[in-house]
Amino acid sequence: MPVVIALLNAYSGLAACSTGFVLNNNILIIAGSLVGASGIILTNLMCKAMNRSFLNVLFGGFGAVSGEEQEEEDIYGGKVKSTSPEEVAMLISDASKVVIIPGYGMAQARAQHAVRDFTNLLESKNIEVSFAIHPVAGRMPGHMNVLLAEVDIPYEKLKELEEINPRMAEADVAIVLGANDVVNPKARTDVDSPIGGMPIVEADRAKIVVVIKRSLSPGFSGIPNPLFAAGNTLMLFGDAEEMIRKLISAVKKA
Ligand code: NAP
Repeated sequence: MPVVIALLNAYSGLAACSTGFVLNNNILIIAGSLVGASGIILTNLMCKAMNRSFLNVLFGGFGAVSGEEQEEEDIYGGKVKSTSPEEVAMLISDASKVVIIPGYGMAQARAQHAVRDFTNLLESKNIEVSFAIHPVAGRMPGHMNVLLAEVDIPYEKLKELEEINPRMAEADVAIVLGANDVVNPKARTDVDSPIGGMPIVEADRAKIVVVIKRSLSPGFSGIPNPLFAAGNTLMLFGDAEEMIRKLISAVKKA
C-alpha cells in the first residue's frame, strides 16, 4: 500500500507538470517534475527494500493470499498448541533437566534478572539447569553471554552448540525464551531459506519444548518456524520477563 501511495503521488506530480506545459507555466512544470521524479525514486527504493519487483508489488497480492501467508498457514494452521504458566510449572516440577535457550526476545524484555531468579528456584528443587547459547542469538556477538554474565549466571552453565546439541534429547523441558531463528529447524530442512545451512540449537530434540514469545511473528530472518507447530511444542504467549515471573510463582505453588 505505501508503494502504491508513493506511485500515485508521483502521478500527481506528472499531471501537474503536464498542466504546466498546457498553460505554459514554468513554475508548474518545475514543481510537477520534482514531485513526479521524487515519487518515482521513492517507489523504486521501497521496492528494492522489499526485495520485490515493481510489478510484483503492484499486482502480486491482489485477490490472493501471498506466498508467505500461505506458507505460514501450511506450517501453523490448526497445529499450534498454547499453554499457561501453571501447566508449564507442572511439567517443570516433574523434570530433572531443563535447558533454557535465550534469544533476542530475552534482551528485548530485559528478562535476565527474572531468568536468574527462575534458575535459582529450579536448582533449589534439584532440577539441573543449563543454557544453550547460539553464537548469533540476539543482535550482537556474545549478546546472550553478556546479559547472563550481568546477572551472575555461572559461566559453566552456558553451553555452546557442539556441547548442548548431542545432549538435547536428554532435556525433559527446553524453554525457548524469545529465540526464533536460532532454533528454526528450517535451517536443516530447507537449504534455500535465508537461514538454510545455519547450525541451530536443536531444541526440537528435547522431550517437551516450551516457547515463550508474544506471537507467531517471525524473527530477524522473516520466515515461519515449524518448531512452533511441532507435536512436542507448547507456546506460552507473552512478554519474556512477565512470563518467567509468572512461571516462578506457578512453580512455587506447584
Ligand atoms: P530472532 O530470530 O530475531 O527472534 C526473536 C524473537 O523474540 C521474535 O520472534 C519475537 O517474537 C521475540 N520477542 C521480541 N520481543 C519479545 C518480548 N518482549 N518477549 C518475548 N519475546 C519477544 O532472534 P534469535 O533467535 O535470537 O536470532 C537472532 C537473529 O538475529 C538471527 O537471525 C541472526 O542471524 C540475527 N542477527 C544476529 C546478530 C548477532 O551478532 N547476534 C547480528 C545481526 C543479526 P514476538 O514478536 O512474537 O514476541
